[in-house]
Amino acid sequence: MKLAKIALIAASPGSPPPPDVLPHPEKIFIPLDGPWGRAEAQVAPGQTVEAGAVVGRFQDPRLPMLRASAAGSVEGIRTVNTPDGQKAQAVVLQPLGDGAPASQAPPQGAAPVALAKALTEAGFAETDRHPWPFPARICSPETASEAFQLTDAPFHNPIETLIINGLDRQPGEMVRRTVLGHLGSFVVQAVAALKALSQASRVVLVYDRSAPPGGELLRSLQEQGVDCRGLENVYPSALTPVLVQLVTGKQVPQPASDPRLVGVAVIDVTTAWQLGRFLTDGTLPLEILVQVSSWKSGLHRLYRVPAGTPLEPILAAANAAPQPAKIVVGGPLLGYAQFDRQAPLVASDFVLVQQPDEVHTYNYRACINCGHCVPVCPMKLLPNELGKLCEYGRFHDAEAQYLAHCIECGLCAFVCPAKRPMVQLIRHGKREILEMRKES
Ligand code: SF4
Ligand code: SF4
Repeated sequence: MKLAKIALIAASPGSPPPPDVLPHPEKIFIPLDGPWGRAEAQVAPGQTVEAGAVVGRFQDPRLPMLRASAAGSVEGIRTVNTPDGQKAQAVVLQPLGDGAPASQAPPQGAAPVALAKALTEAGFAETDRHPWPFPARICSPETASEAFQLTDAPFHNPIETLIINGLDRQPGEMVRRTVLGHLGSFVVQAVAALKALSQASRVVLVYDRSAPPGGELLRSLQEQGVDCRGLENVYPSALTPVLVQLVTGKQVPQPASDPRLVGVAVIDVTTAWQLGRFLTDGTLPLEILVQVSSWKSGLHRLYRVPAGTPLEPILAAANAAPQPAKIVVGGPLLGYAQFDRQAPLVASDFVLVQQPDEVHTYNYRACINCGHCVPVCPMKLLPNELGKLCEYGRFHDAEAQYLAHCIECGLCAFVCPAKRPMVQLIRHGKREILEMRKES
């Protein structure tokens, strides 16, 4: 797999400060729609709920509970715009003051099956989308079978390697570095449970070797048998298929993109932080980390907020730019430009704010067949062809050219002299194919 080196677009944020805890926002939105379908609301308008109360439940008991990230009164259930450009039904909560994060008695010394079920009940959501939720993904075949009745591929594969991904995903990002720098003790607390659940013969923590976490953390992890590996953080080495190949030499089959198929499980270090915290004091995984950066003003701030906090109060706290020209949630290469500042953030994320003179406006041109996009594609695709096929509505032809293998890294667009919006074209093609499947 080829890795294209891209220069940092902005000055490195350097050593990140600890995240600030923001006061609760006026409203919190907890989407019922997500990657596994729609959960059924468990609350009604006017009802008052405690922090951590169940507000949504999927029919499939193997899917995570949706919980209130703050105590509050249920204003209603309404449609919201999500940061990835979708619409979702969401429970709207009006928080009742700033309470402590929701917690419950931590599962002490639980056996793997009970622990896996406890994590599902706790409602672990994750930063990246995965084919299965976190508790199922990291279970050994025996635990997956007993806890979740999952016996087919990929769950019958033993997990040889469990990777804790502490690499920030793109230039300018510092969410994972912050976890390792300031919240790493919780990651240490998570290791025994991760080993018990996965039965992995090898647990690896990867971190940015140009910004290693303190020696104390690495020593504590090594004492627990974790292989700590500093990697050169060259984009897109933190994206799962690329990372798995860098660490294990194995290629993750596409388009399933499930590392379990090759005996590997990957979890984000932000999830390991939440897991360690849950096991230590019972704090439910309902708080997320949000980075706000404005490269023009050199601003880099990190906040801890309840999951479901809309963009607006986070941007206001950062005072990133009173009249930003563009807000991108998900970072410069993987993110989505926002039009609605009420869009709720439900997982740890990177928000980039651009001022008017940072935004380049242009009309993209036809592909000039220069071929620059081909050698940079880590998935060995023909981005030029995919872009054209999606542009002209030839979605089935794009599918035949492995459209679903694209990991939307954005490198093809980064190098394109015709400024073609490759990722947008490819995402459009993928969505059209999904819609056609739903209709047929
Ligand atoms: S966005 Fe997709 S097609 Fe473009 S370089 Fe990345 S993986 Fe390849
Ligand atoms: S880099 Fe842009 S112009 Fe060149 S082949 Fe790829 S899509 Fe076409």
